[in-house]
Amino acid sequence: MELDKMDENDWRYHGEGNKSLVVSHVQLSRVLRLLKYPAEDSENPPQTPEQAFRQIQSIVDFSSKVMSSLLGEKFIHSGEVVKLPLEFVRQLSIRVQHQRPAWRCDKVMDIYSGCALCLPNLTSPALHQPTHTPPLCIEIKPKCGFLPSSKHVSKDIKTKVCRFCMHQHYKVANGKWKRRSLYCPLDLFSGNKQRMHFAIRHLIEEPQNNFKIFKGGQCIYSSKEGSDDSMDLNSLLHHLRPYFLYGNNRINSHVTGKAVVNDFIQVLVNALLSGGGGDGGVVTDRCGEGRSFCEASLFNKERIRHGSQGLPSDSVLSRILQTQMLDTLDIEGLHPLYRRVEQHLQDFPKERTRLQIDGPYNQAFLEKLQKCPAEDDGSVDFAVAKVHQYRVAMTAKDCSIMVALVPGPEEEEEEDEGQRWLRDFLSSRPPAFSYSVSILDLDPKPFDGIPRQLRLDQRIVSCYSRTGAAAP
Ligand code: ATP
Ligand code: MG
Ligand code: ZN
Ligand code: MG
Repeated sequence: MELDKMDENDWRYHGEGNKSLVVSHVQLSRVLRLLKYPAEDSENPPQTPEQAFRQIQSIVDFSSKVMSSLLGEKFIHSGEVVKLPLEFVRQLSIRVQHQRPAWRCDKVMDIYSGCALCLPNLTSPALHQPTHTPPLCIEIKPKCGFLPSSKHVSKDIKTKVCRFCMHQHYKVANGKWKRRSLYCPLDLFSGNKQRMHFAIRHLIEEPQNNFKIFKGGQCIYSSKEGSDDSMDLNSLLHHLRPYFLYGNNRINSHVTGKAVVNDFIQVLVNALLSGGGGDGGVVTDRCGEGRSFCEASLFNKERIRHGSQGLPSDSVLSRILQTQMLDTLDIEGLHPLYRRVEQHLQDFPKERTRLQIDGPYNQAFLEKLQKCPAEDDGSVDFAVAKVHQYRVAMTAKDCSIMVALVPGPEEEEEEDEGQRWLRDFLSSRPPAFSYSVSILDLDPKPFDGIPRQLRLDQRIVSCYSRTGAAAP
């Protein structure tokens, strides 16, 4: 990829979130992640090109120096900042505009700075020779997987119903989504295969912005709202079916859709519980399911027949959950510490640098949050360490997991097509996939965002207390 000879025709719209828009290269396994601004600022970019460059560099640093050490390097691809020709970026923004979902168009792509983050395309992994069957990639934005147990929590409901489930009522009440998702993160993070299965089924039913499927690098399933209405369950089945025709399924020439979806979910659950690569890592000391059952989840507790399993400690879910749990005080306990830091910075503005409030995100930043004393000694350093921990936890509550499934085990023996067919035919096991698991979207959350988090928390809880508890 030569940065001075960029051609917008080599790139296509890939997806977007709230803060960035992503385009993928049509041949190379690369994506560009560009910043977005509120549409009303489109004539006046909120930052200079130098500031944009520094912002993206700080995203790279936060991901590679802080989050990767907490989440595990093997899951993280931090990418690099690139400087693109402005004409290329302008043409690109025109080219992708018509493919953007309407509900995302309150923001526009940054066409002024020429800066972008260049990353490997995790939906078309280069971990295999081009096969007949393209890889399937599943993106899950799992959100917060535990209930707060902080003594600062003022409303009892927060210790019983998880944040995601409460937030769903708020989002429907405010028109963000038409229907509530019945997905509950506590089920996904439980490590119990039945509960995880149940959680993923609800992600498929109501994907919102928490679930997407890519085939051969292209999105084939995501939220129906506002975008392609061809993305329904039938078309998903049509895509998945060829991957799950084996053994008994193949004898019954008409495999039920339900069987296909069940097999798909089973493969996904196994990948999520694995050590992250290859064909299932060693399942060692699982950390207990213990604390976590959300009262809003429709999963029937009685159905957990074999007791709790917990998450294997080297699994992607366990690493994400551990990092989320650095939020030990809950926003209600954290906010007074935020105020302490804020007051200190008003009195001593130069301290902002020493305390690394806006970075740099490096080893020293990581140590500040890891060496935080257990007790509050009233110092600003304690408060800063807690704020840093909280921000890191917020990033872990907002990240996405990408699971890439490549069909067929990589067999070294010379097995010809016929032999393989016979083996698959005779076996009634689900087909083997090799998989790789990554974590994406690891941006630092701004220090100044904390007061907004407190207000949002209060709104969500009061909305749930008024409407949700009555209609669970
Ligand atoms: P959010 O609103 O969740 O914070 P965001 O604006 O920070 O999102 P990302 O989640 O990083 O943006 O990217 C938007 C989408 O682009 C992702 O959901 C994913 O589908 C796709 N994407 C991002 N990075 C990659 C990558 N390296 N490979 C493939 N697809 C990617
Ligand atoms: Mg995202
Ligand atoms: Zn829940
Ligand atoms: Mg993000």
